[in-house]
Amino acid sequence: MKNKRLFVRMLAGTVGLGVLTTFILAGIVSCAGYDAFGAKPSNSRLAQIEHSPQWHDGQFVNPQPQWQNGLGAWRDFLFGDSVKGAVPEEPVPTVKPNPALLSSPSQSGLRVTWFGHSSLLVQLADKNILIDPLWGKRFSPISFAGPAPWYPPGIELKDLPPVDAVLISHDHYDHLDYATVMALKSGATRFIVPPGVGAHLESWGIAENRIIELDWWQSVALGEVTITATPARHKSGRFFGQANKTLWAGYALSSTKNRVWYSGDTGFHNDLATIGERLGPFDLTLIDAGQYDANWPDTHLGPELAVLAHRLVRGKKMMPVHWGLIQEARHPWTEPAERVIAAARCQKVSVLIPRPGESIEPSLTAATERWWPHQRWHSAKEHPVIATENGDPDRRVVAPTCSSI
Ligand SMILES: [Zn+2]
Repeated sequence: MKNKRLFVRMLAGTVGLGVLTTFILAGIVSCAGYDAFGAKPSNSRLAQIEHSPQWHDGQFVNPQPQWQNGLGAWRDFLFGDSVKGAVPEEPVPTVKPNPALLSSPSQSGLRVTWFGHSSLLVQLADKNILIDPLWGKRFSPISFAGPAPWYPPGIELKDLPPVDAVLISHDHYDHLDYATVMALKSGATRFIVPPGVGAHLESWGIAENRIIELDWWQSVALGEVTITATPARHKSGRFFGQANKTLWAGYALSSTKNRVWYSGDTGFHNDLATIGERLGPFDLTLIDAGQYDANWPDTHLGPELAVLAHRLVRGKKMMPVHWGLIQEARHPWTEPAERVIAAARCQKVSVLIPRPGESIEPSLTAATERWWPHQRWHSAKEHPVIATENGDPDRRVVAPTCSSI
């Protein structure tokens, strides 16, 4: 009886998936979403990426393989209970960014404005740098499906101070937003991207001389600001057949007075301490702490390992990112903040969580107020997310334990 019921549910799920796929493909065709797919690297760009130490047998490969429980992920997707509080019930309390403030020099030489998810404006020395900016209406090739932001950035791109550079961590839709790139197409903004991602930008009409591809540990100087791409453990691709044809990275940004590290999307990996040794200490870290799942624990850090990553790279203050704008994983939307705070208390880390749209200067901001609602969330003990050492689910990284989390 039980088996029959399961069979019927699986059949319904499969048929549903088929209908959904047809619907999505029809949507892509009718909305001419092809452009947003980008392009595979070819010719000189392909020849260049084939020299990357990360390139093996036609694709980019993580030094530490990723493990995932694909069956478990599908089972949860098709048959799992809905997650309570996965999206906000009330409007998120955002701040409208002030163009006059953003156009004035910061006091400390470092001002950061978070727009939700990993969309950030970092003002370091005299440079205005956007990280994985999301000004589009939906982070998907389709106009009517895929993650839509819960609130807009609150400021038009044209009202920002002139953007010197856009840093892109990898080509997933929630980091490389086609609409945002198109809105910046006519300016002089440079795009700093991992190897291969330049092919997407060129296919969208961005001139080659405005694109800088940085492999892990490579740097570029923008005046007194140096930007260095750092290793990450993730994956890439915007469409079938494009998986891992472009690389993924984080970035260290340094001026004479301040240093910032952005993790990019990453699972836990063995280069974090080396990043700290070579490029730290960092006044502020911006770390992927949301959109995690125990079925794919090597794709994103999760809150507890995000706090550990902060310590390994020698961060002073930590700002959790990759949460608070869209839902991509099965956890309450406020859970990343709650779990980062719990883990930070345990690991004695100082955390700043500004409202979306709020600007902070890390060295002048002692603390931020709680602005998200109280709702049920699951602790690290209840729902652990622990990366594998090397793609083997029986060998997990040793995460700090704390009786309080
Ligand atoms: Zn990603």
